[in-house]
Amino acid sequence: MTSKQVNVYDFSLPGLVDWFATLGEPAYRAKQLYRHLYVLRTGDWDAMTDFSKPLRQQLADQAQLGCLKPVKRLEGDHGLTRKMLWSLPDGAPVETVLMIYPDRATVCVSSQSGCPMQCVFCATGKLGFLHDLTPGEIIEQVMWAERELADFRAQATASPSPPSKLTNIVFMGMGEPFNNYDQWWTSVERLHDPAGYDMGARNFTVSTVGLVPGILRLADAPLPINLAISLHAADDETRSEMMPVNKRYPIEELIAATRTYTEKTRRRVSFEYVLLKEKNDFPEQAARLGQLLRPEGAPPLLCHVNLIPWNPVPGTPLGRSDRNRVLRFQAALRACGVPCTVRVERGVDIAAACGQLAGA
Ligand code: SAH
Repeated sequence: MTSKQVNVYDFSLPGLVDWFATLGEPAYRAKQLYRHLYVLRTGDWDAMTDFSKPLRQQLADQAQLGCLKPVKRLEGDHGLTRKMLWSLPDGAPVETVLMIYPDRATVCVSSQSGCPMQCVFCATGKLGFLHDLTPGEIIEQVMWAERELADFRAQATASPSPPSKLTNIVFMGMGEPFNNYDQWWTSVERLHDPAGYDMGARNFTVSTVGLVPGILRLADAPLPINLAISLHAADDETRSEMMPVNKRYPIEELIAATRTYTEKTRRRVSFEYVLLKEKNDFPEQAARLGQLLRPEGAPPLLCHVNLIPWNPVPGTPLGRSDRNRVLRFQAALRACGVPCTVRVERGVDIAAACGQLAGA
């Protein structure tokens, strides 16, 4: 992308209308382009044959259809998981993962390049913070996943074939979405726009490390998207060792904010809990988690716990809980009345699983 070029996915529809006005083009042409981007999901200026050739040329001179540069594309799980490593103009990495299932298809999107949160068990944290992504850079990852899904469907012989459009968008790739709240939220609103891509609000899930101001902001947001919170420990000592953010927003404050969120929205949150061997996977810790989420003398928190067996990150002295320890933890938590499931893994063979995104 030259410095004069813009990313077309950074424009809202009114923004496209203004841009077309500067080219002497009427508003309906901007609407046509919006339809190309979000309804037809055209990936190439030349395929927009309802525009004259000179107009297509003019658009291509001034704007890019996405500015992330593809670096490496990998397939795992027999083609059902696909990961793309992109680079920003200065070479900083961004990763996107598509997961295809018989009845749904989920894209896991990055909101930042690298991450400032420094969780000790996460590969992305090792990169440090590199960039906030713009709305366009977030959106174009989703459009890539749509094209991958379309390719998969064109080749698939199995029936039933997967859905013709992505069913879920999860902000669980690189970065902390609430650390880039405004740009991230703009991407959600754009992707939700019924006049464009039209993804239902309930089909988005944002995962946060536990930034309290972001949780409270989302509680008042106009779209009912889903919230996941990375909890990973039920006591401050363990959580602070795993996640430096806990020193700023300790567990009590985090749970209070979550309660405000569930009371305001009446929506259930999910807590993610990465299981590290002999660190946070003892049954006593499950019981403590149970007390935290279903305290005596107070209404239970409207929640669900997602247990994630830790995916190995090279260069860390941590261990992965084996199956028996995972099941033992799950049983102890269920005994407290807390609904909980173990996350099914995808993409481990191509370093595309949770916490493995590190630009390689
Ligand atoms: N910053 C956000 C979203 C990114 S990570 C957050 O912290 O929630 C998505 C999930 O994967 C988080 O719950 C994160 O804690 C978890 N995770 C990170 N590293 C992991 C690893 N190595 N194995 C399993 N899960 C991991």
